[in-house]
Amino acid sequence: MSSLPRPGVRRTAAPVRFTAPLRTGREQEYLAQVLASPMWHGDGVFTRRASAWLRELTGVPGALLTPSCTHALELAAILLGLGPGDEVVCPSFTFTSTATAIAVRGATPVFVDVRPDTLGLDVEAVRAALTPRTKAIFVVHYGGVAADIEDLVALADDHGIAVVEDNAHGLGARWRGRPLGTFGALAAQSFHDTKNITCGEGGALLVNDAVMLERAEVVREKGTDRSRFLRGEVDRYTWQDVGSSYLPSELTAAVLVAQSEAFDRVQARRHEVWDRYARELAPWAAKQGVTLMHVPEGNEHPAHVFYVLAPTPEDQSGLIRHLGEQEISAVFHYQPLDSSPAGRRLGRTPVPCTVSADVAGRIVRLPLHPGLDDDEVARVVDAVSAYRSEA
Ligand SMILES: *Cc1c(COP(=O)(O)O)cnc(C)c1O
Repeated sequence: MSSLPRPGVRRTAAPVRFTAPLRTGREQEYLAQVLASPMWHGDGVFTRRASAWLRELTGVPGALLTPSCTHALELAAILLGLGPGDEVVCPSFTFTSTATAIAVRGATPVFVDVRPDTLGLDVEAVRAALTPRTKAIFVVHYGGVAADIEDLVALADDHGIAVVEDNAHGLGARWRGRPLGTFGALAAQSFHDTKNITCGEGGALLVNDAVMLERAEVVREKGTDRSRFLRGEVDRYTWQDVGSSYLPSELTAAVLVAQSEAFDRVQARRHEVWDRYARELAPWAAKQGVTLMHVPEGNEHPAHVFYVLAPTPEDQSGLIRHLGEQEISAVFHYQPLDSSPAGRRLGRTPVPCTVSADVAGRIVRLPLHPGLDDDEVARVVDAVSAYRSEA
């Protein structure tokens, strides 16, 4: 068999993946340690190491591993006592988890629009959406770029309500030097394999409030005080409160510990890719009327996403198709929740979220993961730069 290309058949390079988890080295070793041990269930040595790492990275008093960011948000909703009749303000431009964690408690997500530059909640729109029933604001830091978090916390404090940060994108990011995930009473992290570091499926609840931390441990452990028992603070554990099983197994935690040890290396490579896109795509963007992802002063972003805003929805599909023809996977996302079937049924939208709809129709996310090599990044830059607006 000849490996020469057959006449008339274009040889295509290997596909450039949009995202891919990176095996950083010690995942198998740590998994083997758990498998050789008599303890595979949660809250063993690897869980403790992963939470200690999260506490050190962020400075929060409590970091509880969960099976997902979605579960961390659900745990937050339980801790806030959300129930029927309560309202929680959240962005329309976000993943479903932000809203479904509210709705699953019987509370009502109230959808508010985002700013067009950071894609974070519009503070004035949040203010206008508050009612006597509002119990909390769920904030998303899109791409790990801070929403107007200080203003949102001040607004929440004025109204005596809580802020929960959905910080799925923002691990390691900072606003004016302070880590994202430390501004609200509670914050949720994700270790899904599309996020910066991963254990396949996984998450964490960061807890900034000592009183809530005690209750969070109980709710997470099926309503028992097993966490206190494991620390030797009580000699048996019993049913204390409502709860569920919001802890991952040691197998999951072992993979997360391996990933956390490589976090700096992963972040350094992500930033190299991100910086190249920003630098090398700027001339093309200026000529084509494309807006590149904007990171305002004061942010240390985590290089979680790199996006462009195409001039029109036709260019969004045109650019994705153009890249697809060259085996480069680029995606759009977040069908605004306010206009989704469940959003209409379970939520409330005081004012149409026009920015969310506009951005959803124009955003294109480029491949960004630490496994991309320089040739792949060059291929993406060349392919994007060759795209001409269809307008
Ligand atoms: C990924 C993501 C989630 C969900 O994370 P899981 O760990 O898969 O539950 C929630 N919110 C946002 C903003 C996300 O990007």
